[in-house]
Amino acid sequence: MTIREDIATPRRTKEIIQRHGFSFKKSLGQNFLIDQNILNKIVAAAGLDKTKGALEVGPGIGALTEKLAEEASKVTAVEIDQRLLPILGEVLEPFPHVQVVHGDVLKLDLKELFAQQFSDVSGVSVVANLPYYVTTPILMKLLEEKLPLENIVVMIQKEVAERMAASPGGKEYGSLSIAVQYYSEPELVCTVPHSVFIPQPNVESAVIRLKVRKQPPVQVEDEAFFFEVVQASFAQRRKTISNNLKSRFFPKEGRERLEALLEEASIAPSRRAETLDLLEFAKLSNVLAQFGLNEA
Ligand code: SAM
Repeated sequence: MTIREDIATPRRTKEIIQRHGFSFKKSLGQNFLIDQNILNKIVAAAGLDKTKGALEVGPGIGALTEKLAEEASKVTAVEIDQRLLPILGEVLEPFPHVQVVHGDVLKLDLKELFAQQFSDVSGVSVVANLPYYVTTPILMKLLEEKLPLENIVVMIQKEVAERMAASPGGKEYGSLSIAVQYYSEPELVCTVPHSVFIPQPNVESAVIRLKVRKQPPVQVEDEAFFFEVVQASFAQRRKTISNNLKSRFFPKEGRERLEALLEEASIAPSRRAETLDLLEFAKLSNVLAQFGLNEA
């Protein structure tokens, strides 16, 4: 019996990269994992089993993919960099239940991909060491498309992870926290030292788990408008909610109508957006929508 060596040791990673003449592209956020413990932690946080599927964004040379293949019944990995395809073909050869898709995850029709790849699994989670330059667009696409996901477990920039998981009242709390928490329950799994990557990123990293909600925790009448109100409320963080909403929705009017609507939503005009929780934003956007401001 031959014992397969894990890919993600510094020695084997370097060997594979050198043999294929691969060079890292910073513009594609290529920081590969070379630490078994952290790979195991990421996979464990996803709660996979042999009835479940995993979608990986950016498999690189397959370090995480290989671990996912050992845990899940089906793995689909989307990689943008064509130069990695021969390496992935070689490394993932022992795993016929792993499918590599060449493409940009931001341009793929994910609903169609799910229908093709995951029709026969009991649940799907996204598990990835994300390219940091597109973290937010990728996560928002996964959440906004309302894909049938259980968990999203991703390595991302620590500062972004903290913003996603932030509670009202702090400086990290903002429109990203609200958007992520509307669709999921975020939980910081661990922070990660630079030494687990090759090459090492310039920023600090963390693993976050987003437990995807089946239903949003608040009722909003018009989802697009809810997010518009949130964005407008945070337009200038140091301004009060009343000043931000006035600039966006009532630029030419006096304050009376806006203040009456804020009162109707039980929000003092002097408050700042960072003090409002999800429920308050939902109430505010519902009141503004009731008075037709979503059609203005
Ligand atoms: N999963 C590997 C690991 O942990 O060692 C590599 C992670 S590396 C941080 C990010 C990977 O995402 C790279 O392989 C990169 O080529 C790929 N990538 C970057 N942008 C992408 C996109 N828009 N769609 C799909 N893959 C992308």
